Amino acid sequence: MHRRARGAQRTQRRRSAEIGRRWAGIPLICGVAVALAACGAGSSAAGGSGGSDANAAGDERPVVLTTFTVLADIAEQVAGEHLRVESITKVGAEIHGYEPTPGDIRKAADADLILDNGLDLELWFARFVEGLDVSRVVASEGIEVMEIAEDAYSGRPNPHAWMSPLNVQIYVDNLVDAFADLDPAHAEDFQQNGEAYRAELQEVQDVLVAELSVLPENERALVTCEGAFSYLARDAGLTEQYIWAVNAEQQATPQQIASTIEFVEERGVPAVFCESTVSDKPMRQVVEATGARFGGTLYVDSLSEPGGPVPSYLELIRYDAETIVAGLTGAGG
Ligand SMILES: [Zn+2]
Repeated sequence: MHRRARGAQRTQRRRSAEIGRRWAGIPLICGVAVALAACGAGSSAAGGSGGSDANAAGDERPVVLTTFTVLADIAEQVAGEHLRVESITKVGAEIHGYEPTPGDIRKAADADLILDNGLDLELWFARFVEGLDVSRVVASEGIEVMEIAEDAYSGRPNPHAWMSPLNVQIYVDNLVDAFADLDPAHAEDFQQNGEAYRAELQEVQDVLVAELSVLPENERALVTCEGAFSYLARDAGLTEQYIWAVNAEQQATPQQIASTIEFVEERGVPAVFCESTVSDKPMRQVVEATGARFGGTLYVDSLSEPGGPVPSYLELIRYDAETIVAGLTGAGG
């Protein structure tokens, strides 16, 4: 992983040189080697809320900038108290078609490490950060990629790799390596945090598989609005069916609804689900047409506020696993 990450970094720096200073207003010298204090002053003067809160007074910790709240929480579990982890998109935001603000770009320029999910999730961000001299690490590096089968996204990687706890164990390994490069003095803590977190992820996986094992084969199906559960379904032995492939195009066509209805009826699927960040109206149509029950709302692309149902990734994945199990196994009883 180390070698790969460094190789990507080198490519990144070459590209930086080619592109040059397309962001004339941004202090491009702010990077890994430059003290945070100096960069903070520059970006504050530029008038952004983004840069200034990334360099809160007295907080000298390296800044890791992630693209969405789920990844930020996973990174925080590995980083512990040693790094300052931030997310560009906020809780509840739609992450597939996000448009970065000038403040986001300043934040990126001031960060010590930019942490992407990868798998084309952050296409909206790539062209803004290409010109920056900041190290980037792709958290999903090394997972077994699944492709989207349908629609305009056909053949592209499915970005939702974090929805399988087994994949997130690979994310954790990548983060342990990346953070050790960034802050070698705390490498051992990152390692220990990573191991403890891996064990909790394994437990979620094991409980999910055990609880689903009571279902007859035809009912082991996960029907959702977005095709965000391909990795979870693969690793939990469920057949996946969804109304649309990616949330960015969340207008359900009559054909999409019809094929979902057909799937539910053919297999006798007891319950269907929809994600928190989209309208569940199309899935309610499926419920009406089939008599399957609405099994509940699942969380995928964003955590909830603190105090909400899923303020951390572990809570998110446990919540989803429990909702799926309760929906599918409850219907027969
Ligand atoms: Zn999504």
